[in-house]
Amino acid sequence: MGFATEAIHAGQRPDPSTGSVITPIYATSTYAQEAIGVHKGYEYSRTHNPTRQALEANIAALERGRRGVAFSSGMAAISAVMSLLRSGDHVIASHDLYGGTYRLFTRLLVNYGLKFSFLDATDASRVERAITSETRLVYIETPTNPLMTIADIRAVAEICRARGLKLVVDNTFMSPYFQRPLALGADIVVHSTTKYLNGHSDSVGGIAVAAGDEDGERLAFVQNSVGAILSPFESWLVLRGTKTLAVRMRQHDENGRAVARFLAGHRKVLCVHYPGLPDHPQHELARRQMSGFGGMISFDVGSFEKANRLLQRVRLCTLAESLGGVETLISHPATMTHASLSAEQRAALGITDGLVRISVGLEDVEDIIADLEQALAAI
Ligand SMILES: *Cc1c(COP(=O)(O)O)cnc(C)c1O
Repeated sequence: MGFATEAIHAGQRPDPSTGSVITPIYATSTYAQEAIGVHKGYEYSRTHNPTRQALEANIAALERGRRGVAFSSGMAAISAVMSLLRSGDHVIASHDLYGGTYRLFTRLLVNYGLKFSFLDATDASRVERAITSETRLVYIETPTNPLMTIADIRAVAEICRARGLKLVVDNTFMSPYFQRPLALGADIVVHSTTKYLNGHSDSVGGIAVAAGDEDGERLAFVQNSVGAILSPFESWLVLRGTKTLAVRMRQHDENGRAVARFLAGHRKVLCVHYPGLPDHPQHELARRQMSGFGGMISFDVGSFEKANRLLQRVRLCTLAESLGGVETLISHPATMTHASLSAEQRAALGITDGLVRISVGLEDVEDIIADLEQALAAI
């Protein structure tokens, strides 16, 4: 079946008790049992909840995985995946990870004996050279935030398979509509459902999808043991979101391409980072590995002062962190999403003070461009 069909139907069927077409919000903590040990497969809602299960099955189908396990945030999903490791294990990760993930790895998980090497994963051979006898897991994001660099998932997956390592890919920026890491050889995909999967900026959540049954079972064990579950209401919201994922992503992509072209042709914009532009250094790889380029763009206006003036002048674009919603959000990575990095770390990654990130929404693209045009005219 096609993606849009699965997005609407996978994991869901009319509710057996009433015929309700939409999976209800099962707001219950517990379930009546007929006799000791006799029940319908549901005992307690941390362990099993029908609304959450529908969402987990839905996203697992979209990612072509065996099992989805939903958590109360993207960070909770990532931390559950990392708890599959043991003290002493070594992890190789992209050096330009989402800031919260970098903080989790370097300020919390190091206290439990995990070791990390960060490197530029756009060159898969670097990953290979960083492997030690203690390496167990490789963790990458592609495209990266905010510079939109691309790692070759298939090439990294081949290295991992040959060395018996797990490959985890954060697929938040592309969603399964444009990129399916498991089909390219990854073992686990993680998402902040807060972004494109929910798509309406009205919930925080996360999910991990495993390609294999064993990882899926271990993640479900962590979910039940630690308890950072996604609530039934929030599961229902994300299920409502994934029903329109295909149409939303197509429009994010169309609007994203138009805004990127506009910015690339503007004399006050020094450079534009968008994998859909032919001069993006990994445009060919992006075309091979993704079926679209999405709505995330960053661009440099040259200085903090100019970025600040631009962000004060926008009217339609909302100055805010986060991404992937129906509305266009604009942000300043150096002082917002990447403020926890030192100035040296930001400089090493190429996150300049003039860099602006935009999550292109679903408004009429002429209106988005007109807003950017009037704001750029002021700098
Ligand atoms: C937002 C985000 C996260 C963290 O997700 P939360 O839902 O905010 O906990 C992880 N990875 C990426 C790429 C993100 O954009």
